[in-house]
Amino acid sequence: MREKIIEHFQVLAAIDSPSGKERELADKLAVLLHGLGFSLRRDSQGSIIASRGQGEPLLLCCHLDTVESTVGLELKIEGDYIKSGGSTILGADDKAGIAIILATLENLDCQPALELVFSVQEEKGMEGTKAFKPEDLRAKWGLVLDAGEPVGAVINQAPGETEMEIVIHGRGAHAAANPEAGIDAIRLAARFIDRLPPHRISEGSTFNLGVIQGGKATNTICPRVQMLGEIRSFEDSQRVRIAAELESLLRNALAGSGGRYDFRCRDSYSGYLVEDDHGIIGLLQRSAAPLGIQVDVHSRFAGSDANILNGLGIAVVNLGLGVEGNHSFEERVSIAAMEMMAAWLEKILKEWCHDRA
Ligand SMILES: [Zn+2]
Repeated sequence: MREKIIEHFQVLAAIDSPSGKERELADKLAVLLHGLGFSLRRDSQGSIIASRGQGEPLLLCCHLDTVESTVGLELKIEGDYIKSGGSTILGADDKAGIAIILATLENLDCQPALELVFSVQEEKGMEGTKAFKPEDLRAKWGLVLDAGEPVGAVINQAPGETEMEIVIHGRGAHAAANPEAGIDAIRLAARFIDRLPPHRISEGSTFNLGVIQGGKATNTICPRVQMLGEIRSFEDSQRVRIAAELESLLRNALAGSGGRYDFRCRDSYSGYLVEDDHGIIGLLQRSAAPLGIQVDVHSRFAGSDANILNGLGIAVVNLGLGVEGNHSFEERVSIAAMEMMAAWLEKILKEWCHDRA
């Protein structure tokens, strides 16, 4: 198994697949999946949905894209680790997951019903899976192999996210000749920013204004400031409440100033929770026990394709693969961890054959 995993990983890692440019990797994977007896289709965004077998399928999902290009990747194997030479990311997020799935399927001596999703643009806010409709998938339970945590980690809860755009409109005027005629949008923004609550606004909820833009010249009273931000919370209702609270702060900050504002929110994706007593957690625990894998079911404050798939009505958790330092040039993955994950996945799929036969 070890050799197969390493070999698949090397082949996948050699293909550059930054978000939006996953085509070559998808083509390669399509050939491999055909060879494993899957029928597959690509959706309008380029994501792969592949299926095999009769009955209710178990869904397995990885993303094809990497957070940035890996052109020039120098792949190194040092002891138990596969790492990058240090001038690019490794792309183990999420190619480690794909390599594990391929190696496991080649090794498998039963034919579980499976639905595989290889998504594009996960790193761009899950744009790939967001394009899916409920009728695109048949599975009711699923596993995303994509968490930057040790093997055994089962992410059963993650927050949803709201995108925020705030525009403050003042009035432009010559800063020296006639400053009294202006309404300074920068100063109005400062009033608002000064009143903001802490980033961790309540337990299980955060918000951040991460981008601010405004002004064109030092001799002009700034007429317009734009701020971009996000709100995250385990509770979808909390995101709505926090947005209302921020808008109220903004309204009060601008009161009597003559300035006005636009406050726009967009629901980016919902949070999810797969309860501890759900059957998919039981399946994971049952198949981990004989291998001595410690299952650690917990929440994680980050979005993944699991958010979007849960939103489609599928109970999906996200599993740790042993990838470390995701999104950095220090990214590395333990070969032993990938082997352990593959052994666990094999057990899970055998259980699935047995339970659903
Ligand atoms: Zn990832």
